[in-house]
Amino acid sequence: MKITDLKCAVIGGYPVVRVVTDEGISGYGEIEGSKSYLKSHVLFYRDRILGLDPTDVEWVMLAIRRLGGFKPWGSSVSAIEMALWDIAGKAAGIPVYKLLGGKVRDKVRVYCTASKVPMNGCEPEHYAENVKLIKELPEGYTIIKRGVSFHSGMPHEVPNFHYGSNSGGAHASRGLLTERGLKHVIACAEAMKEALGDEIGLALDCGPGMMVPDAIRLARAVEPLNLMWLEDMLTGDYTPYVLPDLYRQVTESTSTPIHTGEQIYLRQHFKELFEKQAVNVVGPDPADVGGIAELKWIAEYADLHGILMAPHGVLDGMFGIAAHVQLAATLPQNYIAFEFPGANPDWWFDIVTGLPDPIIKDGFINVWDTPGLGVDFIEEAAKERLEEEDADFFD
Ligand SMILES: [Mg+2]
Repeated sequence: MKITDLKCAVIGGYPVVRVVTDEGISGYGEIEGSKSYLKSHVLFYRDRILGLDPTDVEWVMLAIRRLGGFKPWGSSVSAIEMALWDIAGKAAGIPVYKLLGGKVRDKVRVYCTASKVPMNGCEPEHYAENVKLIKELPEGYTIIKRGVSFHSGMPHEVPNFHYGSNSGGAHASRGLLTERGLKHVIACAEAMKEALGDEIGLALDCGPGMMVPDAIRLARAVEPLNLMWLEDMLTGDYTPYVLPDLYRQVTESTSTPIHTGEQIYLRQHFKELFEKQAVNVVGPDPADVGGIAELKWIAEYADLHGILMAPHGVLDGMFGIAAHVQLAATLPQNYIAFEFPGANPDWWFDIVTGLPDPIIKDGFINVWDTPGLGVDFIEEAAKERLEEEDADFFD
């Protein structure tokens, strides 16, 4: 089998990758909905993979893996990798999880990022109301994550929140918290946990942008709440570096699990985090880290170091859900849950087939057995959603 084309269309804001072969099989991969600008970046890899056998996934990856980078520059390589596995599974007539070594669970736990339900403010009562709404959703989520501190409106909306300046761009502010700012974050965490009780786990996405002393003070203050984790306090989301030594100071100072890693590209950049025991949980995203098999390798190496897995995925779209499910089915017992992407706009559910209905039951997704990723386009319906410049995407 040979790759004859690599195409990319932005559908409902999500760049979708299609790898075309000479045997009538196509594979699909998807990039986060916030990255429509990456279409030309995907096509940069086209000439490098034409003519290669897509079922030799690693051989194709050797041609392109070194030409990627930290978020967002690992997304294109990652989406192509997903599409290769999709083809390899379809060609063999088996689900991708079989190609990764087989499944160790029949259903995979997901967690909900509460930012999907809008909030009316940054006060503790707003946070409590928000997580109560999520708790009542029919999906029955067992873990909820909410943004606080620099991963929320607090730097702008809470007076005298921190000593730094509010930089431009999302989650770009950074600085030492004032006592008032620190107490505000703690009060919001307490309000959410009180609303949720002990039947639902709570994780907090905190930065990046916090300083080491604040990270330690926050992590210690919330110890009685038994949080799932504190995410990306120091570095993370779109910072093109890791700083494991700083994370180690925080992790060694508290019993609250410390989490990072959604921005990281490739296994090499997890090595120091694991070997220095710098964090307790990592959240690589298969759509950023270099793909499905890359994340599988990272999870195995994390497990050897006693480190837990909670893969990031909030914007990964429908093919992203498929990639997460195939992968999560195979991960060792250090797997907690992946971050459920959902679909926005809703019509995404009308242009793909293969997902269970409802997708989530009691906070889990049942692993399906269809070949490849197991999610495919309903071409006639999907064609209606193509932009004019992508009109030949399915040709
Ligand atoms: Mg995050």
